[in-house]
Amino acid sequence: MAEAGTVHHSKPITLLNPKPVEPVMTQLVAGLERIGLAMKSRTWRREGRSGLGPLQRQVLAVLQSQPKHVAQVSQIAEELAVRLPTASEAVATLERKRLVRRRRSKSDGRVVTVELSAKGLRAGSGNPQKPSALITATATLSPREQASMLTALIKLIKSLQDQGEISVVRMCVSCRYFRPNRYDDPAKPHHCDYVNAPLGDMTLRTNCPEYESAPKGQADAAWAAFSNSRIA
Ligand code: SF4
Repeated sequence: MAEAGTVHHSKPITLLNPKPVEPVMTQLVAGLERIGLAMKSRTWRREGRSGLGPLQRQVLAVLQSQPKHVAQVSQIAEELAVRLPTASEAVATLERKRLVRRRRSKSDGRVVTVELSAKGLRAGSGNPQKPSALITATATLSPREQASMLTALIKLIKSLQDQGEISVVRMCVSCRYFRPNRYDDPAKPHHCDYVNAPLGDMTLRTNCPEYESAPKGQADAAWAAFSNSRIA
């Protein structure tokens, strides 16, 4: 017997369409955003203790990636895709904290170079005894997964650069020393003219201090050769 208030249907209830399975791209983007968010909030927590803001931390990272740890303020602004006054302000704050030194060019007073101090080098390096959370997470991937992920990251970074979201990228694929697919050896098919040695997919660089930008024609040809040989 039916209970009072129970609604009876003469036909089976047609359920609303279940939520469609989301395409893999949506999941990938959500995952990447989740990682970005986690790293950002981790940085905020860490910077809260060390007194460094995210932009100041990024300036230190730019200087660390430079040969001799020196860069012009305009270059820092370009790499971080921020306005010159914003970069100058971050550099001035870092100088007050004795993490960088500023020098004005003797030949051109408008040019200011910024150099990482020993204290700044230590601050930017983190704790060598304690690997970062991302290094720990990446170490859980198999070597094959790491190689696939590196190739995928290179493609993502290249596309973001093409879209103007990343201004400066020091990756092998756009470096004048990069020779893609020069060898038959699948483990080390590429070559770096700078170190004059073969490169494997596992040793491709995404932020190389020796990087020098290739002319557009060379970079386009290298990218075509590199990306066409990748298995999707
Ligand atoms: S110099 Fe660096 S970025 Fe250029 S090809 Fe060699 S390893 Fe790659």
